[in-house]
Amino acid sequence: MSEATTYIAKVRDEIVSRDPNQPEFLEAIDNFFNSITPVLEKHPEYIKANLLGRLTEPERAFQFRVPWVDDAGNVQVNRGFRVQFNGAIGPYKGGLRFHPSVNLSIVKFLGFEQIFKNSLTGLPIGGAKGGSDFDPKGKSDNEVMRFTQSFMTELQKHIGPDLDVPAGDIGVGAREIGFMYGQYRRLNGYQAGVLTGKSLQFGGSLARTEATGFGLLYYTAAMLKDQGETLEGKTIKLSGAGNVAIYAAQKAAELGATVLTASDSNGYVYDPNGIDYKIVKQIKEVERGRIKDYADRVATATYYEGSVWDFDVDYDIALPCATQNEIDGGRAARAIQNGAKIVNAGANMPCTPEAVKAFKQAAVIVGPAKAANAGGVAVSALEMSQNSERLSWTFEEVDQLLKRIMEDIFKESAEAAKTYGLGNDYLAGANIAGFKKVAEAMMAQGV
Ligand code: GLU
Repeated sequence: MSEATTYIAKVRDEIVSRDPNQPEFLEAIDNFFNSITPVLEKHPEYIKANLLGRLTEPERAFQFRVPWVDDAGNVQVNRGFRVQFNGAIGPYKGGLRFHPSVNLSIVKFLGFEQIFKNSLTGLPIGGAKGGSDFDPKGKSDNEVMRFTQSFMTELQKHIGPDLDVPAGDIGVGAREIGFMYGQYRRLNGYQAGVLTGKSLQFGGSLARTEATGFGLLYYTAAMLKDQGETLEGKTIKLSGAGNVAIYAAQKAAELGATVLTASDSNGYVYDPNGIDYKIVKQIKEVERGRIKDYADRVATATYYEGSVWDFDVDYDIALPCATQNEIDGGRAARAIQNGAKIVNAGANMPCTPEAVKAFKQAAVIVGPAKAANAGGVAVSALEMSQNSERLSWTFEEVDQLLKRIMEDIFKESAEAAKTYGLGNDYLAGANIAGFKKVAEAMMAQGV
């Protein structure tokens, strides 16, 4: 055992002994530790500075009660979280997720990933994440408003434009950001830069809504270009029907690929002619309906219950854009049989460790979430810039910057992998490239 592997094992033991019950967080830590062992071997000073012990412990974590009144007049209680993981390179930045599965382990895993994702964008933003176990599904607009106002009444004590700038994630879109911004402003006055993902009328950025999905396709295009290929004529299996999936489907079609599927938590639609993102958008964002409705409107589409990853169809590229661990070992084997050559993560950590292993063995290239889906937070940082300047940039300006950032992320991750002799292991490359900047900043700033 090298000094680095002994050190990593010790830090891991400490994390587990502090709190053994945080499986998602530990999964993220293990992925990360596996990749950066060679960096520690090259930099023994990081071991001496106990950089990993410090990095894996959030700078601050808040948990709070969120009481609210439902439409029937009953008082409901949910749990709110904000984890400010690392502020070495900039104000804490990361989304808020409203989903019944949200707990401290999930928020910590997402916050930890966010540190390196944000670092990879090349912009000055630290890592954070938050959310609640509130389920927006089936709630009225008024219920969502009362809940989000109560949530912000507590959260506003801990955030600010130069301190911590939340945004959306699963279950938090323009409607929720609007309600939260209104509550923040009611309590503190005007501060456009306190949240990103705002609507355009009050400080939002053009292309922010599209950014994660568009960015995912720019990253995919950069990866293909490296192999001398393009998206033209490629087939894509896509999961999800939310903000990431909708705009991934749009950009994929614009770049000449065919998106065969889209899904939600009940089932999926398959359309060999290509999913029309506009219809998905209408169903999910305007009508707040289910993906099942798509098949009622499009003659060539069929709806099936269950997971899209259990459906056999031949395709070139998998774009999981739903949630963590949606592709396990068995589903990875199926994707390989179906001909997938590339898996790029629109969602955060969509592949289990077994899935990643299976893909690696079959030489399927896996694009890491912290690189492939960094477009959303990158444009959030551009929204912060515009808010500070009190200016709005054009769609084309933001989109151009986004494209460049995604291409740079691909280049940096690929170079990091090459430097450490890891070939096209972009997962490791992204971890190493993201870690480098944060590690150097932490070293420079002392203990
Ligand atoms: N939730 C998104 C992410 O996972 C966006 C975060 C942000 O814009 O701050 O990166």
